[in-house]
Amino acid sequence: MSLAENLDSIQQRIRAACQRAGREPNSVALLAVAKTHPPEAVSAAADLGLLLFGENKVQEARAKIPLCPGRLRWHFIGHLQSNKCREAVELFAMIESVDSLALAQEINKRAEAAARTMPILLEVNVAGEASKFGYQPERLLAELKAINALPRIEIHGLMAVPPWTPVAESSRPHFRRLQELKERAEAVVGAPMPHLSMGMSGDFEVAIEEGATIVRVGTALFGERKWSQKA
Ligand SMILES: *Cc1c(COP(=O)(O)O)cnc(C)c1O
Repeated sequence: MSLAENLDSIQQRIRAACQRAGREPNSVALLAVAKTHPPEAVSAAADLGLLLFGENKVQEARAKIPLCPGRLRWHFIGHLQSNKCREAVELFAMIESVDSLALAQEINKRAEAAARTMPILLEVNVAGEASKFGYQPERLLAELKAINALPRIEIHGLMAVPPWTPVAESSRPHFRRLQELKERAEAVVGAPMPHLSMGMSGDFEVAIEEGATIVRVGTALFGERKWSQKA
């Protein structure tokens, strides 16, 4: 399958999922996860009309983004170390993977130095997996007000990577839990949060049915990543 065919099929599946859920097709953004793929693949996807791309490593993004069309928007979706925040603020339009107050404070400091504000999502460890990054829900609710008070940070919503499964339907309860947590978080900050970033190649349709506004798709678009480069 060509990139164009893959994109076509994904967009059709997004539209069908929106229809099932009674949602507008343009209420879901497709974020093309470009990790391990070269700038040529990004440019080819951009030529097909994609504008939103994701990377999970600052080092890889630093090398790749300058070689890609300048009009693209990049989201950071990986674990962010505090010593990489300055660069992340320069490279990315949004950081989707904030999972502590300390990290939010560091991003705030770097955004201030760069004279910008930084849109973020808070990453939630929805299944309580020991091996994963992300907030425990109760801790997120406890730190939310402090993060929301940071002047250079804008909280746009929540993000999650549920446990890997070959069965898309198994992700549904996790997606639903993230949606419910977003409602509780909105009540804490007293303002709506527009985004739920959830759903990947294997389960983005279920995520859309459960309210995703950003689906992060790599493999279904660009093909398999080489095992040695797996994130
Ligand atoms: C790699 C990655 C994706 C994309 O996964 P695919 O299964 O290839 O679509 C989505 N989100 C995050 C955080 C990732 O690291």
